[in-house]
Amino acid sequence: MILIKKMKLITVILSFIVTFITASLVFWLIGEKKAVFEKNDSFWAKEMKPANAALNKNIEADVAIIGGGYTGLSAAYHLMKYNHALKVVVLEAKQVGSGASGRHGGMVLPQPPTESFEIAYEDNIHKKTYELTSRNMKAMKKVCEESGIECDLKLDGFVHTIIDEEDIPYYKEYVEEANDLGIPLEFWNAEKTEEMLGTEYYAASVYDPNGGSVHAIKFINALKIMVEKTGAVIYENSKVNDISEGKIIVLKVGDENHEVKAKNIVLATNAFTSKLGYFKYSVMPVHAQTAVTEPLTEEQLESIAWESRLPFYDSKNYLFHLVLRDDNRIVIGGGDADYYFRGDLQYRGDIQKIYELTMSELIKIYPSLKGIKFEYVWDGLLGMTSDEIPKVGVTGKHNNIYYGLAYNGQGVNMSFMFGEVIASVYSGKTHGWKDTLYYSYSSGFQEFIPPEPYRWIGAKTLMEYYKRQDNKLNK
Ligand SMILES: Cc1cc2nc3c(=O)[nH]c(=O)nc-3n(C[C@H](O)[C@H](O)[C@H](O)COP(=O)(O)OP(=O)(O)OC[C@H]3O[C@@H](n4cnc5c(N)ncnc54)[C@H](O)[C@@H]3O)c2cc1C
Repeated sequence: MILIKKMKLITVILSFIVTFITASLVFWLIGEKKAVFEKNDSFWAKEMKPANAALNKNIEADVAIIGGGYTGLSAAYHLMKYNHALKVVVLEAKQVGSGASGRHGGMVLPQPPTESFEIAYEDNIHKKTYELTSRNMKAMKKVCEESGIECDLKLDGFVHTIIDEEDIPYYKEYVEEANDLGIPLEFWNAEKTEEMLGTEYYAASVYDPNGGSVHAIKFINALKIMVEKTGAVIYENSKVNDISEGKIIVLKVGDENHEVKAKNIVLATNAFTSKLGYFKYSVMPVHAQTAVTEPLTEEQLESIAWESRLPFYDSKNYLFHLVLRDDNRIVIGGGDADYYFRGDLQYRGDIQKIYELTMSELIKIYPSLKGIKFEYVWDGLLGMTSDEIPKVGVTGKHNNIYYGLAYNGQGVNMSFMFGEVIASVYSGKTHGWKDTLYYSYSSGFQEFIPPEPYRWIGAKTLMEYYKRQDNKLNK
């Protein structure tokens, strides 16, 4: 009897193992969905400039940068700034700013991310990370000024709103700890929060004077001007199809597979990176959405009394983030995110549902806006990792493949900084990033995201868990 039971157990375990291995093998063979590059139809996209010519011949370069978002353009700008003699090219599959850099929610944030509200690793690392990323915003400002493009960049700070009263002691303690490190955060109670943001919706908030907002595409336009001023060349509608590693890396580009022979490349492809065969088990693409209202009337503006006009985001897992622009439109995003099977980059959600979800949150925060309309709702792609820490560094047998990616949804400031880090590492310059958590605690990509179908199952389960946690807040 016992023997039969044991045999049954062994059979169950064996069948489980065989199923696991077979499924892994099948999905490994099928692979990921191929990259698609959807049109940027965000509010910001109306500021996009005509595209540069596509690559139409074979070329050689010292550094070929793949991806024309903030990471890629910042890397090109800084590489050339440090060494004018370099031959640097940027290869962008569609147009610069077609990816997340041209579709985001407009918030510029220092790091470490405040939603975790704990001192990241060690005091001095936390402090250095904050200082460095705060300083970086000022460098963004300089780029806008030097390019002659105003970028709608405002750096008056931002607010992290707290939904659950029970969380208040935890946040207060964090503010005290941060203040002890010299990080100038302020705890605001419900009254002060209402006075500054005009809403009774939140139990309290934390104000951070370092941070703000920017126009996504105007910053791209500023960067493009500055990159081209340095002499680097940007090719648009130039998708990299294949990368052959070596001392000289060969890229196949565009419909006609023109060759780019480069001594070094930069992967500035964030959520798209696994489609080129890199970081397949550590960075995954997640869809997120943002909406923009019609301009508020004077009466609507008065009714919401968002006196400070400071951008803010809340303390949910599926957080909402809001920016009130100078043209009196509200940019609001978040509240949902999804991972599609086999890393599908094409948006397959229901944008009307996103419209309704986002509108319902906006009206909860500002009830007097009932009846307002969104003029734009769009999708974009985040590059997510399991430890939620962005990655920057150099890899490859010949140490000539640089990367800056995986911003986990907070990459406007960081991607610009990582462009500079990449240029610093390449040029042998010192950059304070070695004292931050991006260097000390994340040497490479040790964390592992399992292959399909386990990845999809795991992502869906985790997302459902987070949603349930948010629902418990009952707001
Ligand atoms: C909806 C949404 C809201 C967000 N809101 C905020 C926010 O408010 N604040 C914040 O800090 N962060 C936010 N983020 C995150 C932030 O936008 C990103 O982290 C940042 O823009 C990443 O920049 P990047 O240059 O690394 O990547 P991207 O801007 O995605 O650029 C990658 C580029 O690579 C190109 N590319 C990919 N593959 C190839 C190839 N094979 N050949 C050539 N080119 C290729 C793509 O076309 C793309 O242009 C948001 C993101 C989204 C999607």
